[in-house]
Amino acid sequence: MGRAVRAHLAPALYPKTAASAARGSLLLGILCREALDIHDTTPYNLRMFLESLTIGMLATNCYVVAADKRASAVVIDPAGETKKIVSRLHRAELECVGILCTHGHVDHVAGAGPLSGAVGAPVYIHEAEAGALASPRTRLLGLAGGVMATRPDQVIYMDDGDCIEVGDIILEVLHTPGHTPGGVSFYTPGYLFCGDLIFQGSIGRTDLRGGSLQGLMRAVREKVWDMPDDTRILPGHGPETTLGEERRHNPFLQGLGSSRSRRL
Ligand SMILES: [Zn+2]
Ligand SMILES: [Zn+2]
Repeated sequence: MGRAVRAHLAPALYPKTAASAARGSLLLGILCREALDIHDTTPYNLRMFLESLTIGMLATNCYVVAADKRASAVVIDPAGETKKIVSRLHRAELECVGILCTHGHVDHVAGAGPLSGAVGAPVYIHEAEAGALASPRTRLLGLAGGVMATRPDQVIYMDDGDCIEVGDIILEVLHTPGHTPGGVSFYTPGYLFCGDLIFQGSIGRTDLRGGSLQGLMRAVREKVWDMPDDTRILPGHGPETTLGEERRHNPFLQGLGSSRSRRL
């Protein structure tokens, strides 16, 4: 059974393990209706909207994925600029119920603690990356970028196969290491939020601590490569692209060949 179908049938989205708090009913009901900037329809004809905010010195793409006005929302990779993110949430009358981190680099997690404190939502991150949320390195580099990184009160570990349900949208957690050991991507049919795994015409660095080019290529081949061509790749930096475009033109991925299928 294809991944998309499996995700769609997932009963509800609960993480497998909890770090400090709420193991419970996390329910993100994301979804999509009137959007701030982007207004879409998923392959399942579910209304979806999301907004991309460019944040911090490294121009990180922070995504707000939300439901209707006055509905639940999640924020992916808050690099900082908490006021800016909160203001966007308020503008659409969204309630942030989860903060999702693709990996633990400072340009993706520095704002997680502050945003969690501001909106009262837990932070979701792979266990292998959680130590970076408020490590001395993150605090130091965060300060250099004007962000006071703090440890969130609630941290929930997520791992491959977990599903995060926000309204009618289910985000499946894919463990996609290589850039970092605990890097994850979030997939819902038509959309892949992949952090620093794949960029337009490039891939994430693998020469940093814990990185592995072989691991990254394996993750792309095993977790991403069979997705449909029109899957929108929403990366941690730079413009969005599609899997089809990267299949054809990304020089780093040419060795992966064609996908085994184009299901869904
Ligand atoms: Zn990174
Ligand atoms: Zn990054």
